[in-house]
Amino acid sequence: MSWHADHDFTVTISGGSIAGLCNAIALRRLGATIRVHERVPGPMMARGAGIVVQRELTRFFAENGVRPLPFTSCRGRRYLDHNGGDGVLQEMPQEFTSWEAIHAALRAAVPDECYRAGSEVTTVIQTGSKVSATLGDGTVVESDLFVAADGSGSATRRAMLPDVEAGYAGYVAWRGTLDESDVPPDLLSFFDDLFTFSEARSGGHMLVYFIPGKDGAVTTGSRRLNWVWYVHVALADLANVLTDRNGVRHRSSLPRGTTPQSTVAALKARALRELHPKMAALISETRDPFLQTILDVTVPKTLFGRILLAGDAAFVARPHTAGGTAKAAYEASVLARALKSARANVDVALQSTERLQLEYGSALYQYGLALGNRWSRERSTD
Ligand SMILES: Cc1cc2nc3c(=O)[nH]c(=O)nc-3n(C[C@H](O)[C@H](O)[C@H](O)COP(=O)(O)OP(=O)(O)OC[C@H]3O[C@@H](n4cnc5c(N)ncnc54)[C@H](O)[C@@H]3O)c2cc1C
Repeated sequence: MSWHADHDFTVTISGGSIAGLCNAIALRRLGATIRVHERVPGPMMARGAGIVVQRELTRFFAENGVRPLPFTSCRGRRYLDHNGGDGVLQEMPQEFTSWEAIHAALRAAVPDECYRAGSEVTTVIQTGSKVSATLGDGTVVESDLFVAADGSGSATRRAMLPDVEAGYAGYVAWRGTLDESDVPPDLLSFFDDLFTFSEARSGGHMLVYFIPGKDGAVTTGSRRLNWVWYVHVALADLANVLTDRNGVRHRSSLPRGTTPQSTVAALKARALRELHPKMAALISETRDPFLQTILDVTVPKTLFGRILLAGDAAFVARPHTAGGTAKAAYEASVLARALKSARANVDVALQSTERLQLEYGSALYQYGLALGNRWSRERSTD
């Protein structure tokens, strides 16, 4: 039984990642009939790494009956100098989880019959108060609302806002995760119980923290050690860096297990020159570093009739905010609340959702730019 007075309210969602699943859960809970189309066939486990836990995300889980997230914690932050030493400590407890753990919990809250893997949305057209989405196999699905949660390269955003481009921020995130059992004991004890940061010698910075391991395990010995190293890469060199070991050029990331051995070797050599010795050693122990380019996306609108952009399809804030997953959860809650309080007046609900999305998204986007630019300025005065 839908909350909508007149008829069963149907929602099509493109993208079965964090934003798509949050919207699916919140809207289904409201009584809507939802269908998620995710273009990746099969499991999506190799795509992410550590995530700093934010309150909006855990609140969303609690409010929507999603099983609690496994998390690791630390007592504080430690700032290292690239020349070596034990660094400076700051008491600041924090919690961490993983993209896999978030995705697995959200996915478990969406019934299989509502989720279609290997199903790409190719075009979206609105006719009256209905939206028709065409799928890769030619099927056309009609619904009352279409939520585009198809990420930073969103095809729906490009169709609705052709002038908006994802801008390259000028640097990439090299990332790695190691099973605790594969980390030498001196590195384990050095990084344990801390969120460790360090500037690199010629700019860029790295951070290290523990995250849950396989199946969300958080006991000592079964966690993973997670690192991110932000590295400047000139636009002219980007195509080369994004070319995988089979010579395939990727748009914005190199998935885990695809980085060419020559690139891994060059990264490890650079780490030895640039980073605190313990951080360089950690990179050296990592078998398969992977890469994500840092993108800037900001939009003047998220709503186009009954088509709504959500998550990274709308705004992409730099990862220094650690706010992307929280934004996805917040937006889904806002949409569900607005639909509930406006009852049958869907368009009023969507307009109020757009207002809050624009407010929250642009504030987070600006905050991310300020954090990223502060780092770039520090680099230029090195
Ligand atoms: C280096 C880095 C570190 C980060 N660290 C953090 C952090 O600590 N904390 C945090 O909260 N956030 C972090 N983020 C951001 C966070 O990962 C995202 O903001 C968040 O996961 C929301 O993503 P999304 O679901 O909107 O998009 P995505 O995860 O990009 O998902 C989009 C989905 O849509 C699918 N898709 C695309 N096109 C189609 C189509 N046409 N049809 C069907 N499916 C389609 C894709 O396959 C994909 O599964 C980080 C990001 C980066 C790059």
